[in-house]
Amino acid sequence: MSKITMKTPLVEIDGDEMTRVLWELVKEKLLLPFIDLKTEYYDLGLLNRDDTDDKVSAESAHAILRLGVGVKCATITSNSARQEEYGLKHLHPSPNATIRAILDGTVFRKPITVSCINPSVSTWKAPIVIGRHAYGDVYKAAEMAVDGPGKAELVYTGENGKEQRMTVAEFKGAGIVQGMHNYDSSIRSFARACFLYALEEKLPIWFASKDTISKIYDGRFKAIFGEVYETEFKEKCTTAGISYFYTLIDDAVARVVKGEGGFLWACKNYDGDVMSDMIASASGSLAMMTSVLVSPSGVFEYEAAHGTVQQHYYRWKKGEKTSTNPVALIFAWTGALAKRAELDNTPELADFAKKLETAVLHTIEEGEMTSDLAKLANPVPVTTLNSWEFIEAVRRRIQVLQETGL
Ligand code: NAP
Ligand code: MG
Repeated sequence: MSKITMKTPLVEIDGDEMTRVLWELVKEKLLLPFIDLKTEYYDLGLLNRDDTDDKVSAESAHAILRLGVGVKCATITSNSARQEEYGLKHLHPSPNATIRAILDGTVFRKPITVSCINPSVSTWKAPIVIGRHAYGDVYKAAEMAVDGPGKAELVYTGENGKEQRMTVAEFKGAGIVQGMHNYDSSIRSFARACFLYALEEKLPIWFASKDTISKIYDGRFKAIFGEVYETEFKEKCTTAGISYFYTLIDDAVARVVKGEGGFLWACKNYDGDVMSDMIASASGSLAMMTSVLVSPSGVFEYEAAHGTVQQHYYRWKKGEKTSTNPVALIFAWTGALAKRAELDNTPELADFAKKLETAVLHTIEEGEMTSDLAKLANPVPVTTLNSWEFIEAVRRRIQVLQETGL
């Protein structure tokens, strides 16, 4: 069987812990035997980020801007515990925050559904897709601790020297203070990305914020979303039968757990972070959630929505073959390969990506799955597979699909 060729390389961003172990395995068993895989490789493992003073994170984002499509493994966000564990020179910002700050854009997170797993919310009939604004707010905030009485102010100095100033708080003792920002241009491209996605996927769209409390900040989000809808998308949405609905975030949460699902939920950065994990868990498993960053510059970054699965990694290091679910990692690769194929016009590669997804879904639906899914499956599978056995079960199926051309 000749291998599928690629025209343009993908930006491959390696990561940490259990996902790094699975990354290698997925490539070795499911990709390299079938594709003449071309990638430009960036090692965002914690030690290499530390060795390069984190320059590698920004370089990987610029490579995505240059090549158009990237695929990323999960990475550790360093904190003091990690600094001690890995003997780091410095604490570095989250690589995802660094990459998103360079690419801007919106992250779409969609659960991967299989027939044998029902969502924990019994009323959901179709998946809920999260559209998470990937720029600013608390992820790009300036914050500090103050150690005694004093006044904290918010000061803006215009280019013309004109000043706007207001008091944040009069401190009577020690405390904390934070300044967040966002740009109209970024909010506008977030809104556009969401409406375009909703039209492409034929999904109703919801947007929620807390504009009753945050009248200026969240108020601006609400206003821009409404304006983009009215001026650019209302007609197209009406023609396509797609509705746009704005509500308060707490109301949205209440409606989500009582509703039928089947819509795009546009969320501000923090809401999207929290709600996507809720949607993923309630839909089955964190490991069954795809994630793609769509940048206004027209480039794409695919990843799994979950983290590095730290506790499984420690067990793997002790010699255990863990039952860590690699499905979202595999779908990060298939998403990236399919997008590469679309941009390069290489239908053979697109076909392979689709078949690999089919092979994964069939494997699970035919009763072969990792333990996170086995706990939820109906019918209950006879045995539970570890990651190596699961990937081998997928490999057998993709091999057949490739050989028979079905
Ligand atoms: P996590 O890696 O997502 O894991 C949380 C828990 O979810 C796991 O302990 C496991 O539950 C379950 N889980 C997640 N993925 C799974 C999979 N593929 N298969 C089976 N179970 C899975 O989150 P975390 O433990 O909070 O974070 C670990 C590290 O990941 C942190 O250093 C964090 O900074 C980083 N992180 C990175 C990203 C990213 O790069 N995109 C995102 C989030 C977190 P059980 O233990 O019950 O099996
Ligand atoms: Mg998160």
